[in-house]
Amino acid sequence: MKSLNRLIMSLKRLPGIGPKQAERLALYLLRAPDYESENFIAALKEAKISVKFCRECWDFSESLVCRRCADESRDKSLICVVEEPQDVLAVDKSGYRGLYHVLHGALSPLDGIGPERLRIRELLERLKGRADAATEVILATDPDAEGETTALYIATQLKSSPRIKVSRIGHGVPMGGDLDYLDEGTLSHALAGRKEMDSGGAR
Ligand SMILES: [Zn+2]
Repeated sequence: MKSLNRLIMSLKRLPGIGPKQAERLALYLLRAPDYESENFIAALKEAKISVKFCRECWDFSESLVCRRCADESRDKSLICVVEEPQDVLAVDKSGYRGLYHVLHGALSPLDGIGPERLRIRELLERLKGRADAATEVILATDPDAEGETTALYIATQLKSSPRIKVSRIGHGVPMGGDLDYLDEGTLSHALAGRKEMDSGGAR
């Protein structure tokens, strides 16, 4: 069945979905009442149209500038760099009240993900454009090999901006994990214990 196979193939492309799960989801959607599958399609369509990227921090946003970037009470001297939008939620829960920058991934040469695939250029341009605002960039990429590579790459790119302090979250972050799996206490500790990165790399 061509159309069933097409549905299974497109579900299989979703992150974390293997062939078996794709099959199960496809069969579920086909068996579900019409209103349920139509609701799903409509929700996806609407989100695709109305959810865009914040032009400042590149988090998802339904307005040109997201509510965090527009929030005057936030500390504009701090920019916390994270891999994914869900990391913003996790770091915010820890009590952090600065700004963010979402990369939408991490460097992974093996998977062909280079700097041009991430929002790194946008970060550098953003920092250039705010000579009087941001004074510290906190690299809160995941504590795994890709996250470390990404942090190191950004730190190297910022070497020529001596007025910006570059730090890396530390303390109590287990290696190999996802940032958004950490509890608030651990994250808040990791942020408080951040260490400045030198030009040669992480200390
Ligand atoms: Zn924003």
